[in-house]
Amino acid sequence: SWSSSDSVISADSAGEAAEPGSPYRVVLLGASGVGKTAFASIFAGAADSMDSDDCELYEMCENMIEVDGEPASVTLLDTWDAEECYMQTGDAFLLLYSITDRASFLRASELRITLRRFRPAQHTPIILVGNKCDLVRRREVSVSEGRACAAVFDCKFIETSAAMEHNVWEAFHGIVRQLRLRRDSKEA
Ligand code: GDP
Repeated sequence: SWSSSDSVISADSAGEAAEPGSPYRVVLLGASGVGKTAFASIFAGAADSMDSDDCELYEMCENMIEVDGEPASVTLLDTWDAEECYMQTGDAFLLLYSITDRASFLRASELRITLRRFRPAQHTPIILVGNKCDLVRRREVSVSEGRACAAVFDCKFIETSAAMEHNVWEAFHGIVRQLRLRRDSKEA
């Protein structure tokens, strides 16, 4: 049930960008080895900062990207082991698994459930990302399983290949679109 204090808490901790124009905090979640670092390096590469100090170890990188003709400031956070603290601070989440690793798919489900515990009662943008789709012969998770899982978890779904740079920007753009929709619906 909704009490007034609940809504105050969710307004404050909803991960809303603090002020207009402040960066969206997009968090990479997923088991080790699924491609989070590869995603972060592609993201950082657009800022031409592959080997600069701006993105130390790609742990955190801010970048201005253009989505639908409009610039968006995005801070990408790679979670390493401290997933739960990022769950509280992120505005949106890319939940990665590897299509070649069923255990990572199960891990993504666990993370989704944990996320729901940290972020109840709000529509947090999440995209379930099946990475390594270039490794067709090693596939352990089908496209339809990924899609079905996303439907159950009420999030979007995309398959990507960080190695081929296939669909990675679509994932980043998709999460910004969801953040904008959410912002616009709050302003309305
Ligand atoms: P992380 O532990 O989630 O940060 O995973 P990494 O980004 O370090 O990736 C783990 C390994 O998978 C590395 O050897 C990457 O080069 C490789 N990798 C990441 N994404 C892809 C992909 O889309 N396709 C293929 N074939 N390999 C990938």
